[in-house]
Amino acid sequence: MNPKALFNISYGLYIVTSKNGDNINGQTANALIQVTAEPPALAIGLNNKNLTNEYIKKSKVFVVSILSQDAPLNMIGQFGFKSGRDTDKFENINHKQGKTGAPIILDNTLAYLEAKVTHEMDVGTHTIFVGEIVESDVLKDGKPMTYAYYHQVKRGTTPKTAPTYQKEEIKPASSTRYKCFICGYIYDQEKGDPDGGIAPGTPFEDIPDTWTCPTCGASKDQFKKV
Ligand code: FE
Repeated sequence: MNPKALFNISYGLYIVTSKNGDNINGQTANALIQVTAEPPALAIGLNNKNLTNEYIKKSKVFVVSILSQDAPLNMIGQFGFKSGRDTDKFENINHKQGKTGAPIILDNTLAYLEAKVTHEMDVGTHTIFVGEIVESDVLKDGKPMTYAYYHQVKRGTTPKTAPTYQKEEIKPASSTRYKCFICGYIYDQEKGDPDGGIAPGTPFEDIPDTWTCPTCGASKDQFKKV
């Protein structure tokens, strides 16, 4: 089997949210498809260890916020690499309560889909939820974020809990590359981190200690030379 064959499947990038009583949670997700048109329904695969999965099983509702291509890495990382069990993922994120009671993300969101769960299938590490869309709207025009754009252009990384996670190949050693050992993000001296205020060409050693991983927010001491 050649696992690289799987890299040819294309995906979008979304934040899936749900609720449990008064509590809300959400996570980044890519394994989403529309499965039927009449009625309009979605299928989504989420890791059984994730709090959002637990909330959907309890409330039977979820909301998909479709991210725009300009959604920043730290927003995707906040929902993708942190757990709602120990952080408030909605801090500094504009959101509103949807018809289902689950939150709709308003920042960097092109459109949202609210669904009620109609089917649930345990597939081992993950559960596939099928939900009928009960409400949806377009919030603004723009290009939706694709998984390829997130990886290739924004240089984002994939958490171990994602259905599409594969162990990363470490690229040939180069003295200018440092890897975040929390999320796998690679700092490349040539490219710097312009969004984080680090100009291209800045050696890793010269980055201020206050700088954090653009994907997961880890501190500089979580990086190792690769
Ligand atoms: Fe990181």
